[in-house]
Amino acid sequence: MIPFVDLKAQYASIKTEVNAAIQGVLESCQFTLGSEVVAFEQEFAAYCQGQHGIGVNTGTSALHMALLAAGIGPGDEVITVPFTFVATVAAIQYAGATPVLVDIDPKTFTIDVGAIEAAITPRTKAIMPVHLYGQPADMDPILEIARRHGLIVIEDACQAHGAEYKGRRVGSIGDMGCFSFYPGKNLGACGEGGMVVTNNAEYARTIRMLRDWGAEKKYHHVMKGYNFRLEGIQGAVLRVKLRHLEAWTEARRRAAASYERHLAGSGIATPQAAAYARHVYHVYAIRTQHRQAWQEQLLAAGIQTGVHYPIPVHLQPAYADLGYGVGAFPHAERASAEVLSLPMFPELSEAQCETVCAALRALAPVDSPALAMAGAA
Ligand SMILES: *Cc1c(COP(=O)(O)O)cnc(C)c1O
Repeated sequence: MIPFVDLKAQYASIKTEVNAAIQGVLESCQFTLGSEVVAFEQEFAAYCQGQHGIGVNTGTSALHMALLAAGIGPGDEVITVPFTFVATVAAIQYAGATPVLVDIDPKTFTIDVGAIEAAITPRTKAIMPVHLYGQPADMDPILEIARRHGLIVIEDACQAHGAEYKGRRVGSIGDMGCFSFYPGKNLGACGEGGMVVTNNAEYARTIRMLRDWGAEKKYHHVMKGYNFRLEGIQGAVLRVKLRHLEAWTEARRRAAASYERHLAGSGIATPQAAAYARHVYHVYAIRTQHRQAWQEQLLAAGIQTGVHYPIPVHLQPAYADLGYGVGAFPHAERASAEVLSLPMFPELSEAQCETVCAALRALAPVDSPALAMAGAA
């Protein structure tokens, strides 16, 4: 069986280091925030080429806190995409603001920068691009539009640890960048975790208070806050894993290059890294109009796959309140119908990549002309 992700292989490769880190927190009893979290905040912010890192309990909280720190709330609109994990849109609603969606660019799966301006109203306060699958959104035009309209840019970098836009790490390009350390992410905790990265000292100060009950110091509450603290054990484990992240990212990129090589000429639409991007392949998604059949046949051949995501946010029953119907975002809807995520994790071997590609090539002739067109669309 070739698994879709293999967290056990990763743990096996760093078991001694991770166990020692956890042991250290057990001995220190700094179970929430504490010195390991502070050190991780500094190390991860530096890794992102940013000045401040504020550890929180989840990526969702990072997005939520970033919006609140920017003063965004009821009556305000935030522009983002429907082709993302629901947390992006949920965080905007948690802040009390209104999500306004725009379609994606089908080549990069990130926000269509040409569609942003038409969505701006007098109530728009922020743009929240999502670096989906580990590919950065096209940040320069986004920043330019934001500057012209006086908007804040909050990067949803939850899938893009270490990704680069024109040589710059994501997360420190906009006003704030939000990361998730959910176990399956490129940098994953042994539980939940998240972080906001920013170069703005005032945002950093506000988020530090918001995550810990709005307290300036213990029991002095200057604003209404939350319990969104990052745990000490997660900080310690994440520090260990951060030291391996570059090697893991290069291994993901090697696996992606291997897929690309072995699928060349098959007619299968493989993901395209933008010229500006260092893509970190959190997800490696091909496109097929026969997704269900392919998924079943790959599974029968011992290959696990995933779908990220089968329904765009605007068509999820829970988000009917956004007020968009079928046809509102054709590229997002088509992507949701066609994407198929192949196994992708740093320990994936060349032989495993070849096995996956051989199985795919056996399926591909079914609809290769249409797929070649989908890739070119
Ligand atoms: C994982 C993810 C989130 C949420 O992160 P959690 O840590 O699970 O709360 C938000 N946005 C995107 C794009 C994600 O992939």
